[in-house]
Amino acid sequence: MIYKTCRFIEHGLFIQYSDSDYLKFKHCCNMDSYPESQQLFLCREFRGDNFNWSEIFNIKRKIRDDCRNGIYHPICSKCWELQEMETDEDDYFSQLTFSPISKCNSRCIYCYIGNHKEYYNAEEKFDMMAIIDDLQKKNYLRFNGSLRYMGGEPTLMKDFNKITDLFVNNNVPEIYLPTSGIKYSYSIEKACELIPFCNIYISIDSGTPKTYKKIKGINAYHLVLDSLYKYNKHSKNSINVVSKYIFIPKINDNTREIDLWISESQKINLSQMAPDIEYSCVFDDSKEKYLKHLFNLTNYARKKIEEAGLVFNLGVVYRKMMYEWAKKNKERLKNDTNHEIFILDITKLTAEETENILQSIIDKNTIWNKPIIKITAEKEVTDFDEFNNILYLCILFGFKIKLETDAMKKSEMIIEALKIGDIELIADTNGLYFEEYNKYKK
Ligand code: SF4
Repeated sequence: MIYKTCRFIEHGLFIQYSDSDYLKFKHCCNMDSYPESQQLFLCREFRGDNFNWSEIFNIKRKIRDDCRNGIYHPICSKCWELQEMETDEDDYFSQLTFSPISKCNSRCIYCYIGNHKEYYNAEEKFDMMAIIDDLQKKNYLRFNGSLRYMGGEPTLMKDFNKITDLFVNNNVPEIYLPTSGIKYSYSIEKACELIPFCNIYISIDSGTPKTYKKIKGINAYHLVLDSLYKYNKHSKNSINVVSKYIFIPKINDNTREIDLWISESQKINLSQMAPDIEYSCVFDDSKEKYLKHLFNLTNYARKKIEEAGLVFNLGVVYRKMMYEWAKKNKERLKNDTNHEIFILDITKLTAEETENILQSIIDKNTIWNKPIIKITAEKEVTDFDEFNNILYLCILFGFKIKLETDAMKKSEMIIEALKIGDIELIADTNGLYFEEYNKYKK
């Protein structure tokens, strides 16, 4: 029968850790970004006592019936996985996602697990092989779909290699593994050699060991580059191994770091590059003010990736959500000012005070109706210590900026603003750096 549904509604089982003594069973991991109260569950509290698959299949049948009648859960109705497809009536799982642990070997500053002490490095409480064995015994497991992992760090799962080997030996056509790349897995190396779509996403988020350490809390930059190199070298398909860079406001959201990320990836023959954005920027309303900057930064990264002859990988979720936001606000993004001029005299301002001023302007006007910020000072603006930080904040908050300079002193932040910001620069034609600034004018 053909109807609009998704492979996870039909035959998906997503097993996820919780902060209590139970696991949660769902269809897929795509709902994870939404509050739990809005998600669909197959079993809210699996405590390992029995495997009540018939109850779970009953729930799935009811949801499949709804799909046949054109009724979709609100999250599913917005999901890119929903499509017309040939289905069958059998009860089995072929789209398996394992996320039973919240252990990790790094502690990223943007990670909700790393920042919750109940989650971070909690013990693995359940035996995934016992679940797989039971499914196999009852003939409820098929290997013609996908094996996916989520975390914590999946490679730290007790039976990670055993589970991966089982699926690889049974020719599963697709594997998805988001990993820190700190612990290298020879089972995944073998999967890369044999499985046509063995998608490995490694978030390196930086182009230098220093920035990597700042984000991840661990010195493992070169180890991770090496994992990217080795998985890629063994990969049957060059599209499989992806280097991911999550833009984090105030941490790695600059073109210098992006350029280094691209050049370091070229050195190890990597072709798939995936810029993404910190997930809270698309969910937390107070961070919507950063989206214009992240959108501009993504466009910069895309241009640089393509100029380098690499591939701008499309498989990351939060960038997709940001693009949806940009599409919805296309006209407003082109003109997001009320055309009034706000004079920002930086003579006595600190960056912290500036941030408060910019925030109060947005609170008063909204992000779509902001005045233009004219940065001025009692003398040449670039002579002030806080100038670069203040200019960065104006870019980060998505303001259109007006700026006059004698261009006698080079400011990397002016160049940054010309590359990714929304700036009208008037530089003195006699200034030493006039020509250089002019090169970057759009
Ligand atoms: S449509 Fe999307 S959100 Fe709904 S079950 Fe499928 S993958 Fe999950």
